[in-house]
Amino acid sequence: MTASFKTRTVSQEDTALRGGALARVCRPGDCIVLTGDLGAGKTHFAQGFARELGITGAVSSPTFNLVLEYEQGRIPFYHFDLYRLETGDQLEDIDFYQLVEGDGVSLVEWGDKFTEAVEAADAILAIEVLGENDRMLSIRSSTARGDVLVAAFESEVSHG
Ligand code: ADP
Ligand code: MG
Repeated sequence: MTASFKTRTVSQEDTALRGGALARVCRPGDCIVLTGDLGAGKTHFAQGFARELGITGAVSSPTFNLVLEYEQGRIPFYHFDLYRLETGDQLEDIDFYQLVEGDGVSLVEWGDKFTEAVEAADAILAIEVLGENDRMLSIRSSTARGDVLVAAFESEVSHG
């Protein structure tokens, strides 16, 4: 079964709040790939996600690091940005598998570049630019855990 849900946002803060809603329903071991063009809002989503976990301080795009690890929140948070990764074999070099299978929750910007990363994900969240401040966020599950996650996210966005 594949679960899916769409939600529109009209500001960067709105997108951050959707990140917060996802964080509230995440558990250790969850992995979500974030897709969308440069400037779509993946990092703003991740920032709201981190804030909800209780991570204080700036969460930046890990473009030059490929992954940033935050341990001070409710659950460890691993924020990947694979924009500059060249091949899927390099995922091992950045401890991708170890982190994703560990006791934290992972968000993977540009994960859709590599089938290995897509296969590790419970859900894919795509951000589409509709207008200057307008975005459509579409999430689709790819595992049984992802089905639960998407349903919980939908309920969190709708009533939470
Ligand atoms: P990405 O990580 O996908 O490259 P960023 O989150 O770094 O994107 O940047 C998104 C850009 O789009 C920011 O400049 C932000 O201010 C702008 N923006 C405008 N509207 C939105 C929205 N609804 N959601 C997210 N970002 C938005
Ligand atoms: Mg980014």
